[in-house]
Amino acid sequence: MKKERSWAEPYKIKMVEPLFMTTREEREQFLKDAGYNTFLLRSKQVYIDLLTDSGTSAMSDRQWAALMMGDESYAGSENFYHMEAAIQKYYGYKHVIPTHQGRGAEHILSQILIKKGDVVPGNMYFTTTRLHQELAGGTFADIIIDEAHDPDSELPFKGNCDLNKLERLITKHGAENIPYVSIATTVNMAGGQPLSLANLREVRALCDKHGIMIVHDMTRVAENAYMIQRLEEGYGHKSTAEIVREICDLTDAATMSSKKDALVNIGGFLAVNDEKVFEKARNMVVVYEGLHTYGGLAGRDMEALAVGIAESVDDDHIRARVGQVQYLGKKLLEAGIPIVKTIGTHGVFLDAKKFLPHISQDQFPAQSLAAAIYADSGVRTMERGIVSAGRNKDTGEENRPDLELVRLTVSRRVYTQAHMDVVAESVEYVYSERHLIKGLKMVYEPEYLRFFQARFEPIT
Ligand SMILES: *Cc1c(COP(=O)(O)O)cnc(C)c1O
Repeated sequence: MKKERSWAEPYKIKMVEPLFMTTREEREQFLKDAGYNTFLLRSKQVYIDLLTDSGTSAMSDRQWAALMMGDESYAGSENFYHMEAAIQKYYGYKHVIPTHQGRGAEHILSQILIKKGDVVPGNMYFTTTRLHQELAGGTFADIIIDEAHDPDSELPFKGNCDLNKLERLITKHGAENIPYVSIATTVNMAGGQPLSLANLREVRALCDKHGIMIVHDMTRVAENAYMIQRLEEGYGHKSTAEIVREICDLTDAATMSSKKDALVNIGGFLAVNDEKVFEKARNMVVVYEGLHTYGGLAGRDMEALAVGIAESVDDDHIRARVGQVQYLGKKLLEAGIPIVKTIGTHGVFLDAKKFLPHISQDQFPAQSLAAAIYADSGVRTMERGIVSAGRNKDTGEENRPDLELVRLTVSRRVYTQAHMDVVAESVEYVYSERHLIKGLKMVYEPEYLRFFQARFEPIT
């Protein structure tokens, strides 16, 4: 058998940005000032930033050149038409509404499609997506397969939907109270897990039977497509671009945070096939985002996005991007660190419940672990557990997710393999001293999306 060759980066570096090292003493003070919330650290206090892959990609020289082609006309900017053409070509949706980022699109679509009392099934919640569904009067219902909630399950497609769960919801609430099914590629909160095309086809058939729309949260669609190419039978010979198109063609509308897969620092869009929904969205975008040919974006940003979309589905790019994440994941697995299996596509997720069994979920183990890793090495990560899960919108009780995770998110084209080695060493060291880590108590809790701004203090 031929040995699989390495995934080295399909680019070379032409401009660099210095990183700053700090001492452990300084970092302990920074953490205290930031209320033990890594979102409240200043970026100059961070050495390697694995907080998020959102808006943190390195743009290519072609994208930087595209910025110079910005047409900053208020109406009818040429850049809008380039962006629209790229979306139509690579994703296949008919109509495009630009928004400042993904949540802008979620807001508009939720307000248009959801009525009070509706139920919105989805393959696991996402923070902003669920909040906009709730603000529009809906309730999110989880239809992801059970294995997605189990960090030890090694299924290849842990982003798949459980058709029985969906069918039961339709029977219970009636198709007329289900405005759409929300399908994410890949599933961020499950650890960056892909969904298979076979599963999506089954969801499509069930939705067709009941006349229900599918809305695609396509934030990481290229990464999902690449996993299908690698793992799903019958797709090994297809390009990532072809698979992306096949996924999109099975859905009716999409919300996109272009800050992830599409390699830009800001931007998003809503894409729909239905004329009536398009008309409403085009009317609403003027109220909340900006005119329908810029939606909160500068012309130059739309041009960079048009280029970024094409680059994001390139097979060499996506192989190296996911390859780097898998490299870090395998390193941690080999060191015996408890992480979510299967390794995801945009980050490696530490299982904080197993990492810190002496800290109960009320004392925020993932939040504590993220703080401990920062204190050790200046590596910034993010909590994805009980803090991110927030409270039940009706009872006010805390949601208690099975998954209590710390996300080590890898930005696209930004860090090297040596940075991944340094990260792995820090996590291994913190693991060896894990018994010293203490839990936290929350001393300030914002009403919405509390994980962004909550403040904590150590329990002594
Ligand atoms: C980031 C993200 C969003 C929201 O997009 P923003 O650009 O941050 O507003 C929605 N869904 C998923 C899966 C995401 O990762």
